[in-house]
Amino acid sequence: MTNSVSPSPAPAWPGDARAACAFTFDVDAESLWLARGVQEPVTLSQGRFGVVEALPRILDLLRGAEIRGTFFIPAWVASHHPDAVRAIAAGGHEIGCHGDEHERVTDIGRAREHEILTKSLQVLTGLAGRRPIGYRAPAWQLSPDTLELLATEGFEYSSNMMDRLVPYLHPPIGERTLVEIPVSWVLDDAPFFLFTGQRGIQAPGPVLQGWLTEFEGITAVHGVTNFTFHPQLIGRPSRLACLRELIDHVRHTPRVWVAPLAEISAHWRKLTERRT
Ligand SMILES: [Zn+2]
Repeated sequence: MTNSVSPSPAPAWPGDARAACAFTFDVDAESLWLARGVQEPVTLSQGRFGVVEALPRILDLLRGAEIRGTFFIPAWVASHHPDAVRAIAAGGHEIGCHGDEHERVTDIGRAREHEILTKSLQVLTGLAGRRPIGYRAPAWQLSPDTLELLATEGFEYSSNMMDRLVPYLHPPIGERTLVEIPVSWVLDDAPFFLFTGQRGIQAPGPVLQGWLTEFEGITAVHGVTNFTFHPQLIGRPSRLACLRELIDHVRHTPRVWVAPLAEISAHWRKLTERRT
């Protein structure tokens, strides 16, 4: 028996594009480790690598490929590495909210979650000169209040859910409707490259192969391939080579629209409004 679920009509992407693709980066720096209760300097230095070594190379790579990405930055990281935020903004990239100290919103309660959202908007707007309109939850966990708080604070989109290959609209909250631009652990570098001492590090080659196959598959069904990288993980030379190859492949694939999430969200909203 089937239920009422049926395949959506193929989305109309801008121009003659048949699919979309986004390169997003979660700039967690030391907060990735601090949120796990780590204070030990060597472990924290892995996070710093993401900002001091990896980020400038990633920005160079994106500039060379003429790709504008989306960077989600915790407020704590922005305050401790303000020049990194300015460099990202100067490169024409989008900046989105990603908590304060990379805390899990499921653990902190509604009032604190709201406070953190307000603070991160304030800190990022001050440094980037532009108010963020997108939100990605630290550790990809939403509380029962998250979407409502995002709507209250005027966000345009969330990039957290894992249920679709195409964007969609969340049910309206008051006057506001949030666009969802779905993600997936399989398009994230952390499950493959984050080393916590408990599992082996994966070789970049097979991981790249997996991402290419995901991209081809999502493109074939006219979806959005929403890659999620962490500068401290993807920025090691062996993995940066893999990112370079991935970017080359995407750029040379015909009729794929590569854009920051803010533009994908705006397009999707317009498209949906036109249909209703
Ligand atoms: Zn993160």
